Order: sequence, then structure tokens, then C-alpha cells
Amino acid sequence: AQQRYADLRDLPALTLCGEQISLQMNAGLMADLPSLEGSGAEGVGLFRTELQFLIRNQMPKRAELATLYARVMEAARGRRVAFRTLDIGSDKVLPYMKPNDEPNPAMGWRAIRVGLDKPGVLRMQAQALIRAARGRPLVIMFPFIAETSEFIAARKLVMEQLERERSLGIPLPERLEIGAMLETPSLAYAPRSFFEMVDFISIGGNDLRQFFFAADRENERVRRRYDMLNTSFLNFLGHIVGRCAETATPLSFCGEDAGRPVEAACLAAMGLRTLSMRPASIGPVKSLLRRTDLQGLRAVIDAACEEGRENARPVVMDWLARQSN
Ligand code: PEP
Ligand code: MG
Repeated sequence: AQQRYADLRDLPALTLCGEQISLQMNAGLMADLPSLEGSGAEGVGLFRTELQFLIRNQMPKRAELATLYARVMEAARGRRVAFRTLDIGSDKVLPYMKPNDEPNPAMGWRAIRVGLDKPGVLRMQAQALIRAARGRPLVIMFPFIAETSEFIAARKLVMEQLERERSLGIPLPERLEIGAMLETPSLAYAPRSFFEMVDFISIGGNDLRQFFFAADRENERVRRRYDMLNTSFLNFLGHIVGRCAETATPLSFCGEDAGRPVEAACLAAMGLRTLSMRPASIGPVKSLLRRTDLQGLRAVIDAACEEGRENARPVVMDWLARQSN
């Protein structure tokens, strides 16, 4: 099977119905960079910047971060890299930050909430990213945006840093894309203006699923209890795809479900055209996508919804098995 996936590396994820799906990889450490070539990823759909903070025992310096980010961009050789700003909370405690005792860390003071309340680190990170890009495109996304005002505030902070760097005579990025991660159901119902103002949206499926079903992704007892192919969740994804289509907002999906072939095919059937996953998943996902007619799969999902099924998985698996015969 490994050889089969290697053979697919340079082929596009072109479905039987002629849709091209962009398969990207998730990364966060320098050790992930060689996978950019090996996996056939079209870019880095999610670069988890907090990993660089978590592996140190003191706060990294701006210059150090700028060097790291520049290395990532160089390794990407022109492919798009979406840098997700720091996503820490009281579950991912930095050894050099005062721990916060919170009853519900996943729903607590984390990610962009920390970034906006204590903007020093976010500012430093924005400066490092701008300096790393110099003349290259820069893509920044904010984690855990729950309402429009948070996105506006975070983007303003980045734009202020851009102005500051400009006034210091530092070469600026060739262009700047700023997007939001959709990880809380609230954002799927944000006003149209939100969808118009973001350069792109990336669904953080791990958190979105956790909050959609109110099931802790860290809790072994419940983490696998609810299925992504539950028809309520598929309908919800369809709603998000529709909202983005109204405003022509680019939409992608990162999160572990994108790396599971059957789930990935269903995401594509629901209208997702960019999926970001761990590098080792790209081969298996591409292999299934290239054998799938998304319209046929979508018809199966729609029928499951209309028939009032709770979960589309049985009919999807049945249909996929019949396709491969
Ligand atoms: C997600 O929530 O799906 C996501 C991609 O971010 P993380 O897994 O780092 O929370
Ligand atoms: Mg998340």
C-alpha cells in the first residue's frame, strides 16, 4: 500500500466527477518540514505555532521566531502556509507562564481570548511573521474565533504591527491574507459581514465537533461517542459551506477527520474543496477521492438525511463498497 501511495504523490486529488480537491498538511515542528516534499501536500493548511512555544522552557524571542518562520516558508518553496497564531489555554500550559486553574479549560481562557486580553505575545508573533515573510505572501489565521468582534480586534492588532514594521523600514510581505478558524458553532451563524471581511475560513473540526456535540475531545469515555457522519453534523457542515458560498469566502477544513478517507470523501461531498491533514494521511485520502464520484456520494448523504437516519455511515460505507466492486 505504501508504494501505491508513493505512486500517487504527484497526481492530483481529482475525483471521478472531475472535482479537484486540494490536499494540504498540518505541521508545527521543524521535523515536519521534510514531509512537505514526501507527502505531495499542496501547502500547509494549518501550522500550529504553539508547538514552538511548548517545546521550550522560556518564551522564544522575536528574532528566533522570525528565523523559524522563515525556514518554514523556505521549505514550502512558494506553497501556501497558514500560520495559526498561538493556541494555548490552561490545558496547554507554557512552563514559563503562570498556570491558570480553570474548571473547563477547553471552554476557558484560551487561544485568541488570551491573545486579545494579553496582546504582548500576539504582537510579537505578528512581528516575527511579518519579518519572516519579507517579500513573500503571508497567511495568518486566528484560532477559536467565536464572534466577529474578536476577529476585527485580532486583525487590527496585526495591521498595526504591519504599519509599525513599515515605519521601521522593514520589508513587508508581498501580500497578507488573514483568516479565522471556525471552531465554535456560533461563528457559523455570524452576520454576513463576517463572511465578507475574512480572507478565508478554516474549520477546526476537532474543536467544532467537540462543541457541536458537547463531548470533550480529551475524554476517552466520550471522545468517540459521536460520529462526524451523524446527519445533524453533516447538515451543519452543509450550512457552513452555503454561508461561505454566498460570499465566495474560501473555506477549508483542518482537524483529524480530514485525514480519514471516508470522512474526507464525505467532507468533499458536502462541498469542501481544501482539506488539511497529517502528512501520512494524504496518500490514503487521495486514493479514495480519486475513486469517488462526489455527486453520487452526496446523493447518498442527502437521502440518508431525508429518510431521517441519525447516521449516514452505514449507507455511505455500503455505497463505497459497491463502488469499488
Ligand atoms: C481543530 O480544532 O480541529 C484544530 C485543527 O485545531 P487543534 O486540533 O490544534 O485544536
Ligand atoms: Mg482547535
